[in-house]
Amino acid sequence: MNATATLLFVLAPLPYDIAALEPYISEQTLHYHHDKHLAGYVNKLNELIVGTPFEGMTLEQIIGQADGPIFNNAAQVWNHEFYFNQFSPTPTKEPKGELKRAIEDSFGGVEALKEKLTKESLNLFGSGWVWLAADDNGKLHIISTSNAGTPLTEGLHPLLAIDVWEHAYYIDHRNARADGIKSFWEVLDWDIVSNRYNK
Ligand code: MN
Repeated sequence: MNATATLLFVLAPLPYDIAALEPYISEQTLHYHHDKHLAGYVNKLNELIVGTPFEGMTLEQIIGQADGPIFNNAAQVWNHEFYFNQFSPTPTKEPKGELKRAIEDSFGGVEALKEKLTKESLNLFGSGWVWLAADDNGKLHIISTSNAGTPLTEGLHPLLAIDVWEHAYYIDHRNARADGIKSFWEVLDWDIVSNRYNK
């Protein structure tokens, strides 16, 4: 590796203890999901960008310009950091303020929104993500993306992300994706989601 030209990505640590989301998301799941899958995307991305024009760019810049394997690995790094950062062992269970009003306007309330996001997650075929995202006017959208897809490429601002890849739930729930999503809601911190909306 060229020591004079390396501005590479590092694995962002989890913002909570690896066992802190038990029993909803197990330590073993986080060990594989964060320390193996996300670390793998970070390492692969670094390997792919060394010596290319992407070296030294931010993740967002790479996502906006790359395609193929470089896009896939960069987007998966961004998506997973965003995903892991939305959980808390002591989550706030309800949205607040502006976001709460926007959810009431668009979906009728938080329970209806959760039902819609859950249904979308169960209907997504194969690997991908389900997102709540806002447009530039603050209007809320539910969108699904396949594989490494991200709302960033559609000009939307992600607020919450449900990882519907099997690796997100298979250790804890085997094939029962619905149980994985039930657990997701137990540790999602709506304060974090509300703060993302306020930005
Ligand atoms: Mn994942």
